[in-house]
Amino acid sequence: MKISQHFARDYSDARARFLTAAATAGATVTSFQNPLRGPETEKLFTDVAVWGPADAERVLVTISGTHGVEGFCGALCQTAWFAEGMTKEMPRGTALVAIHAINPHGFAWLRRVTEDNVDLNRNFVDHTQPYPANPDYEALKDAICPSDWSAAGRAAADARLAAYAEKHGAKALQAAVTGGQYSDPTGIFFGGHAPTWSNRTLLGIFRRFLGKARTVAAIDYHTGLGPYGHGELITGLLSESANFKLTRDWLGDELTSPLIGNSASAKLVGINQLGMEEVIPNARFAAVAIEYGVAPFDETRNALRADNWLHVHGDLRSPEARAIKAEMRRVFYGDTEEWKQKVWDRSVDVTRRLLKGMAEG
Ligand SMILES: [Zn+2]
Repeated sequence: MKISQHFARDYSDARARFLTAAATAGATVTSFQNPLRGPETEKLFTDVAVWGPADAERVLVTISGTHGVEGFCGALCQTAWFAEGMTKEMPRGTALVAIHAINPHGFAWLRRVTEDNVDLNRNFVDHTQPYPANPDYEALKDAICPSDWSAAGRAAADARLAAYAEKHGAKALQAAVTGGQYSDPTGIFFGGHAPTWSNRTLLGIFRRFLGKARTVAAIDYHTGLGPYGHGELITGLLSESANFKLTRDWLGDELTSPLIGNSASAKLVGINQLGMEEVIPNARFAAVAIEYGVAPFDETRNALRADNWLHVHGDLRSPEARAIKAEMRRVFYGDTEEWKQKVWDRSVDVTRRLLKGMAEG
């Protein structure tokens, strides 16, 4: 059976497939409704499927759709885990908490951000404190998110970005754009000025379902960075912490860290792994993001800029909007058998390694 059969057309299809597979595998589902609707006025939910003993000391957590549109990939891995009978691999006394579409609005609208234009994986900062500064984003913001997305407007903006990259390097441009910013609420990679719905929902799920856990391993599925089909294993846990060492013990030296500087990802602020870690202080916590590459990074960045322009300045019902949304889907979702198979094989391998690590203590 081909793994691609589990890939969904859109958010609602992904949700239906996930709910069916989870129920068939014997999981119990709890749903959290987002206050807004999708593009077809469909209702939006984050669904949590819990499989295994309710009081399990060891819990595997999987999360899809942190970055909305990236949910196609994570939802496949979660749905296939149930549908392909992989729960039989779960060691005794280990539970699975599969969180489907933690950012359902972004998933449904083919956006990376939440309903309030927040990058959920930059939103887990202490909002009572001054926000981290990103002066390079600030200096480039009119070029990163130009109000004029015509060919001429875009060429002028791109020339400024190219000049910056020429002077400071492509890595510096990536850090300026993607590292996270708290000064431009209508821009990209905006971390928000308050915990967004998906942030509160995620931490609420952790408090409710993981309160008794002593050991937790979390996989957060992402796409859009790195070589085609490759799944980089990234942790954002603090590199001297016991939980970082635990994650590295279980996943080995291929684990990368933006803090150490060996990751395709720039250094980030406000990431969800640190937020999750904080609400389960009594558990050991291994956390990894699997980041699957799809398109070259320039294409991905330009798709995000176009999508941002569309939602701030454009017309969502225009033919141009359809083209921009198709491009968003293309750069965050490898629509080939090869890509889907690689995604699944990598996910199974990482999941097995975490289950083994937890079982062996
Ligand atoms: Zn992502």
